[in-house]
Amino acid sequence: MIRKKRDKPVQLKILHALEKRKTLTEQELLQKSRLEKGWEGEQLFDRMTGTVSKETLQLHDLRLTCRGSTFQLDTLLIRPDAIYLYEVKYYNGEFVYEDGDFKLSGGKVILNPLHQLLRARTLLHQLLEEHGYSFPVRAYVVFPHPHFFLYHAPVTDSFLFLPQWKSHITRHAAAGVLTATHHKLADLLCSLHRKEPSATQDVLYGELHKNLFCPGCAGPVCRQFKTFFCPDCDNHYPAGRLIYEALKEFRLLFPEMRLTLSSARNWCRVASDKQIRRALARHFNEKGQGRGVHYV
Ligand SMILES: [Zn+2]
Repeated sequence: MIRKKRDKPVQLKILHALEKRKTLTEQELLQKSRLEKGWEGEQLFDRMTGTVSKETLQLHDLRLTCRGSTFQLDTLLIRPDAIYLYEVKYYNGEFVYEDGDFKLSGGKVILNPLHQLLRARTLLHQLLEEHGYSFPVRAYVVFPHPHFFLYHAPVTDSFLFLPQWKSHITRHAAAGVLTATHHKLADLLCSLHRKEPSATQDVLYGELHKNLFCPGCAGPVCRQFKTFFCPDCDNHYPAGRLIYEALKEFRLLFPEMRLTLSSARNWCRVASDKQIRRALARHFNEKGQGRGVHYV
C-alpha cells in the first residue's frame, strides 16, 4: 500500500516550465538531463516495488530532520519484520569499486553511495528511537539500470543489483501482518516529512514567452473557439486544463508574485478573460477585496 507518493523534484518542474518559455542555458540543460535521469530511475524502482506483498507500507521520497540534520530517503518499505530503506542510484555504464572507492571506468572517484546510505540509516535510527520505535532497519543501495555494471563489486548485502531484486524481495517476503504500530509509524513519518524548499534560481519574468502550451509536445497552442489546438500534434485541449497548468507553473516560477486576474491574463496571453476567470474560480481560492483581490 502506498502511503506517500513520490513527487517530481521541484527543480525539474521548474526547468520543464522554463524550457517551454525560453531557450535553456547549457548549464540548465545539463541539470535537466541529470535530474531527468534520476527521476526516471526512481520511477522505475517504484514500478519494481509495486509488486511487493500487500503487507507493506510504501513511503517514497521522504525528507526528514533529526537533531538538526536533514536527510532524504528515496524509498522506505515498512514491513511486518523490519523497515527497508533503499537509496536509488540510476547509474548507467561501467564503474569500478577499488580500495573502498566508487570510480567511473575512467578512474574518477565519485561519492560512494554507501556512505550516503549509512548516514541516512543512522539518522533514521535516531529518529525512530526518539519517537519510541525499535524496528530493525535494513538499508540498501539499489542500482536499477539494466546497463549498470560494477567491476570488483564488494561482497556486501548493502548493494542490490537488478538481477538480485526478485530474490531479495522474495527472501524478505513479509512474514506476519502489519499492526496498528506499523500504520502509526507511517503516519508519523508522513507528518514529519518536510517539503522540498522552492528553488532559488532567479527567473526573469520579462524574458519568458507567455502563452499556453501543449501537454503533448510542449509547443505553444492556438485558441480555437472554446478550446485550444496544437498545430504540431493536431490535438485539441479544453481551456480549463491548460490554463490551470500554466497558472501552477506561474506560481512555481514566481512564488513571490501575486496571482491576480491581471497577472494571469498576461501569463496566459492566448486565453480569453472569461476562460481565465473560470479557471481561477475553479482551481484557486479568492482572497482580499477590491484592488487587492488575488488567488492562492
Ligand atoms: Zn503538441
